[in-house]
Amino acid sequence: MNSTRHMEEKNLLLRVKGLKKWFPVKSSLGRTTGYVKAINSVSFDLFEGETFGLVGESGCGKSTTGRSILRLIEPTEGEITYRGKNLLKLKGNELRSIRQEMQMVFQDPHSSLDPKKRIGYSIEEPMIIHGVGTKEQRMRRVFELLRKVGFSEEYYYRFPHELSGGQRQRVGLARALALDPKLIVCDEPVSALDVSIQSQVINLLQEIQAELKLSYLFVAHDLSVVRHIADRVGVMYLGQLVEQAPVEQLFHSPQHPYTKSLLSAVPIPNPKVKRERILLQGDVPSPLHPPSGCVFHPRCPFAIEKCRSVIPQSMEVTQGHHVQCHLYS
Ligand code: SF4
Repeated sequence: MNSTRHMEEKNLLLRVKGLKKWFPVKSSLGRTTGYVKAINSVSFDLFEGETFGLVGESGCGKSTTGRSILRLIEPTEGEITYRGKNLLKLKGNELRSIRQEMQMVFQDPHSSLDPKKRIGYSIEEPMIIHGVGTKEQRMRRVFELLRKVGFSEEYYYRFPHELSGGQRQRVGLARALALDPKLIVCDEPVSALDVSIQSQVINLLQEIQAELKLSYLFVAHDLSVVRHIADRVGVMYLGQLVEQAPVEQLFHSPQHPYTKSLLSAVPIPNPKVKRERILLQGDVPSPLHPPSGCVFHPRCPFAIEKCRSVIPQSMEVTQGHHVQCHLYS
């Protein structure tokens, strides 16, 4: 799926603008004493049929971004425009019907399926909830989805504990496909799986994307997985999207100091090629008290005085390559 596709020729599916999610911190008396700024002014576009990878360390806000887009958690501020409609303004039936087009594949296939329900029911359930089809039509659809993710019809009657982790994740994908979505948020869909199984699930995701022309928002901490599947990549640090670019451009020519340090830690398969590892000082600060100015400044080897007080704006350094850093402003 890696490609130099011209996204400008594609139709915009989703636009996220200035998205924030702040979780209030309450005192024992119930007063709000502060906010965990899980995501802070995140903006990006997702086009029809593409995969946008969101990467960053644990706790950087990438999963919260995915969940906020699907309104599994309510964003604090910002705009999420899906096919021209602002999702944050939709209510009731309109929201319900658009939600059918936006599904999620969860990280943990062990907990995302009800252990007491047969696989067939787990795949059928979203259709029951949304009142889709008759029992017979739904059953036919479940058999079709089972085949699509590589199972025989006999798996309809199995329980989750009878399946391996990779098989459960395939059931999670079949469930996500049940309502014929246009967009799937894949939240670390392979990180709980063995490496050998990861590639099978990634290949299946790619095949199904090509067949159904799906768009994926692919959240992951594993850069090699993202490089394999994504068309474009956004790098998050402490709730902010600090860099975004077409995938090969990001991997060959990272610009933001944080992206450079992340990529310097990825092993190169060729032993003759050496890469200098950029080690960052200190830990990621708490999102309860993010640093002033550029949130990366306490750890940045290139920080200048301005970085301590002035928030950098996102700049387009080459076509489609955006960096949020004073070195480029
Ligand atoms: Fe480093 Fe300053 Fe750029 Fe932030 S704005 S990444 S601190 S150089």
